[in-house]
Amino acid sequence: MNNELNEIVRLVKSYIELEKESGVEECLAKRYIKEETAGDGNARGLAALKKKVMSCTECDLSAKRRNVVFGSGNPNASLMFIGEAPGEEEDAQGLPFVGRAGQLLTKIIEAMGMKRQDVYIANILKCRPPNNRAPLPTEILACEENLKAQIEMIKPKVICTLGKFASQTLLRTQESITALRGNWREYHGIKVMPTFHPAYLLRNPPDKKLVWADIKKILKELG
Ligand code: URA
Repeated sequence: MNNELNEIVRLVKSYIELEKESGVEECLAKRYIKEETAGDGNARGLAALKKKVMSCTECDLSAKRRNVVFGSGNPNASLMFIGEAPGEEEDAQGLPFVGRAGQLLTKIIEAMGMKRQDVYIANILKCRPPNNRAPLPTEILACEENLKAQIEMIKPKVICTLGKFASQTLLRTQESITALRGNWREYHGIKVMPTFHPAYLLRNPPDKKLVWADIKKILKELG
């Protein structure tokens, strides 16, 4: 039995080496091993929740989605970013923040000295609203337990809400994003830093300096 197992491990390892040589960054086997060994409770809890959310039909957005965009990143992240809802690219790939705004968010994360895999990225809604329209109150209500559970499992030290919608929804306030950004708030004992959405920054590049000021506060808090 041991010999058989050793042989399987040897074969998988050589397969991974071959994939690496051929330039494929994350092959199926490697991903499989990662999932199998991701033994901590947070990872398992999130995986179970994801399984449930993948077949959710609690609101009408489920009818038109191509993919559920559950969230991605480190299940033990000390920093969590929360956006509004998936756009076209996110809906196509099933991953959060992978379109143009997502590329800017990735740059921000890297400027913080981190990688996307170090943080956790999620949205208020897990399915794309048609034509990227604003989420409806019924959709927010139907989806809010999912985000709440994600936050409870990850227990980040800091949450950064991206844009007016995510900030107002999480903090249950009607204050404008201009008033909210840059000021620490709290969500169930977790520090929250609201800042502008990367999509807004694409339209208003001079405001990148304000976001960077907010990000510096987060870095200081994370230590
Ligand atoms: N905008 C968001 O708020 N979330 C995404 O995932 C992508 C764009």
